[in-house]
Amino acid sequence: MVMDLGSRERISALLNVRRDLGNCKRCQLSQGRTNIVFGEGNPFADLMIIGEAPGEREDQLARPFVGRSGELLDEALTANDLTRDDVYIANIIKCRPPANRNPSLTEMGTCAPFLYKQIETIAPKCVVTLGKVATEYLLQRNIKITQERGRALSCSDFPHIFLIPALHPSYILRGGGKDKSKLIQDIGYGLDLTLIGVTPTQMR
Ligand code: URA
Repeated sequence: MVMDLGSRERISALLNVRRDLGNCKRCQLSQGRTNIVFGEGNPFADLMIIGEAPGEREDQLARPFVGRSGELLDEALTANDLTRDDVYIANIIKCRPPANRNPSLTEMGTCAPFLYKQIETIAPKCVVTLGKVATEYLLQRNIKITQERGRALSCSDFPHIFLIPALHPSYILRGGGKDKSKLIQDIGYGLDLTLIGVTPTQMR
């Protein structure tokens, strides 16, 4: 890939975020983790997918969404003619919580600044959040995910980026997969919004 100066700056900014994170011991989750799961994908992506926290497989492989939830996410990307190279995937927190419990507010507050720097650096046009925990953290309010999924929302921390809540793949799996089409649809909506160049600040 031929990179212009802006692209080089973007890569080095992302590298700096990773360097700042280092061998992080900022919270107790560092004690139980095998690997930090920084995030991966296209640093020039218009669409970012943000989950909650790494699970067991992610912790082993240092990659986001590579377990059963990841297979479902891959299916939803493929159904929208996307591959992992078209998007950037990360989580609110970068270390696996014990027994996959929900991350605490303190853990999210400690870790999310690194995700925020990733979002600022990648500057996607749209973020699809997977599940209630990730969505509530970024929106800073409580939501009912089954009601608000699939809507283009705005988020005060990133006023130029649409945030679309989607059901978490593990929730869909627990329900036997019947809601898979909703995840496909919500990612598709996110993709559509990246294609027409509308930002939340232009909406009335
Ligand atoms: N669930 C998440 O929220 N993130 C992952 O990376 C894997 C499973």
